[in-house]
Amino acid sequence: MAETHLSVKLLYNTPNPDSAAAAAARQCYSAKGASELLEALSQDEVAKLVRQVVKSGHHSVLEHASFTFAAEGISRACTHQLVRHRIASYSQQSQRYVKAKDFNFIMPASVKTKGKEREFIDFMAASAALYSSLCDSGIGKEDARFVLPNACETKIVVTMNGRELLHFFEKRTCSRAQWEIRALAEEMMRLCKERAPLIFENAGPSCVCNLVCPEGKMSCGRWKSVPGCVLKGD
Ligand SMILES: Cc1cc2nc3c(=O)[nH]c(=O)nc-3n(C[C@H](O)[C@H](O)[C@H](O)COP(=O)(O)OP(=O)(O)OC[C@H]3O[C@@H](n4cnc5c(N)ncnc54)[C@H](O)[C@@H]3O)c2cc1C
Repeated sequence: MAETHLSVKLLYNTPNPDSAAAAAARQCYSAKGASELLEALSQDEVAKLVRQVVKSGHHSVLEHASFTFAAEGISRACTHQLVRHRIASYSQQSQRYVKAKDFNFIMPASVKTKGKEREFIDFMAASAALYSSLCDSGIGKEDARFVLPNACETKIVVTMNGRELLHFFEKRTCSRAQWEIRALAEEMMRLCKERAPLIFENAGPSCVCNLVCPEGKMSCGRWKSVPGCVLKGD
């Protein structure tokens, strides 16, 4: 049993995601097919097309670019928020089939800042001990897991397309999102920007991608440092 930390890997993605989206977009207005366009489009044309569709909100063509991530060292509290995003595919380590004896856990920085680290670890150990005792008494893993904490580490594979990723980044890289899912979203966004720099060129919270902060008086104030951004909401 030990504290663990977030690790995110981009397992695979649609080859040339920017070009794939551009070819799909161009085909809508061309006598040529997407396979021919994929070969023929110059980098400048790809850039122009992708910027156009992202800016105009014609995001359906971004659905042709798909990205699959493996997230580990992530808490159950975080994956519960993640799986609320419905336009995605998930495969999560099962607490019914994988025994959580000596589970690893995620500890929020605030627990350490407030000097509660020892109590937190003791509670993890107590939870693990009760879990093991329930399992040893013949109670199935699917019932014993009821005593496991939200801090328990899990592993999850996530697939999202470009459109959903832009939406996910808008919601979850915002400073209003909870710190752990924000860390996950920021790392996924960093990896996406490497693979598809055009689709994700302006990815980020609403103040960055829409030039609007909808948070009103709850705003973190970042919008003030984004040229052209306005504040909305109560
Ligand atoms: C800061 C923050 C705080 C939150 N707090 C809470 C909370 O207190 N309680 C709580 O329950 N949740 C909370 N949530 C979760 C939130 O309500 C959403 O469930 C989550 O962000 C998923 O977003 P979504 O529904 O927009 O998008 P996704 O499921 O990712 O879907 C993407 C888009 O597809 C469309 N779509 C998807 N499914 C449908 C559908 N069935 N019908 C029509 N359109 C659809 C919508 O346009 C949607 O925006 C919070 C989220 C954030 C970011």
